[in-house]
Amino acid sequence: MPMHSEHSAKLMDGRPLAKRIREATAEKVQRIREATGVTPTLATILVGENTASAVYVRMKRARCEEVGMKSLAVELPHDSTTEQLLAEVRKLASDDSVHGIVIQHPVPKPIDRRAAFEAIPLAKDVDGVTSAAIGRMILGMPALPACTPAGIMRLLIEYDVTLDGARAVVIGRSPILGRPMASMLINAHATVTLCHSRTRDLPVLVSSAEVLIAAVGKPNFVQGDWIKSQAVVVDAGYNEGNVGDVDFSAVAERASLITPVPGGVGPMTIATLLEQTVDAAAAQLRVNL
Ligand code: NAP
Repeated sequence: MPMHSEHSAKLMDGRPLAKRIREATAEKVQRIREATGVTPTLATILVGENTASAVYVRMKRARCEEVGMKSLAVELPHDSTTEQLLAEVRKLASDDSVHGIVIQHPVPKPIDRRAAFEAIPLAKDVDGVTSAAIGRMILGMPALPACTPAGIMRLLIEYDVTLDGARAVVIGRSPILGRPMASMLINAHATVTLCHSRTRDLPVLVSSAEVLIAAVGKPNFVQGDWIKSQAVVVDAGYNEGNVGDVDFSAVAERASLITPVPGGVGPMTIATLLEQTVDAAAAQLRVNL
């Protein structure tokens, strides 16, 4: 655990909120089982032996079972082809006992990740990775959104962060995190700047942020002297050794609210995934929760 004793910022703790979401999800699982006799099921596909991915997938599977859902684990060798991965996704897509499908990323380089994502039917896309789900989310149409940015939005709401009219900066433009994050903030009426590896004068842009989301994948990347006084800082990064993308102690000196790593965004991602899987199951089984 990072030291949190000598800073002025308040912590945005994801753990109690995630626990409440998991408890509500467990109740929904129970209601679905009573109404239909079916147990909501999440299939996770892991390709290769990436250690961090294996840990994330194990965590998702364990949490699934804790809330009473079934978890179906599919593991493919690292030298699998796009076609082999697509065949697995299609099998799960047509299996009525599977309600949600997640492909753990990253997948090994030669695989066409986009093609694999697109093979997930919209109804089972519980991590909002298909172009259909992303497009619908951007347009404010019903769809299950990407879990990490959706979990971050829940955390910001829980801590009463004003987004309407706020200046927000997102660092990172990946399709699973930075991009959907920026869209969700725009939908919440923030004015958003989306930064990436080609951005010039990053510290200057960051210093304008009332709300900053770091999703870079580089340990301790965001520096304390980049931060606007009293900014709200969300660290989505999760690097080796439980280190975030934000230099926690320096940034916490200036911020008003900050997420810890671990214990901030991570638990919210998994809780959101479980909740969205149960909601997907209810929709597929036509149960009114
Ligand atoms: P990613 O696909 O590698 O994307 C990283 C983004 O950061 C890219 O858009 C990249 O820009 C940008 N970037 C890289 N170097 C930069 C620099 N020097 N200045 C500005 N931008 C820079 O990573 P990701 O999948 O979005 O994940 C980001 C972080 O979030 C990682 O630490 C990951 O472990 C963590 N994560 C956490 C959770 C969770 O549940 N807690 C879930 C998912 C991811 P380009 O586009 O120009 O290359």
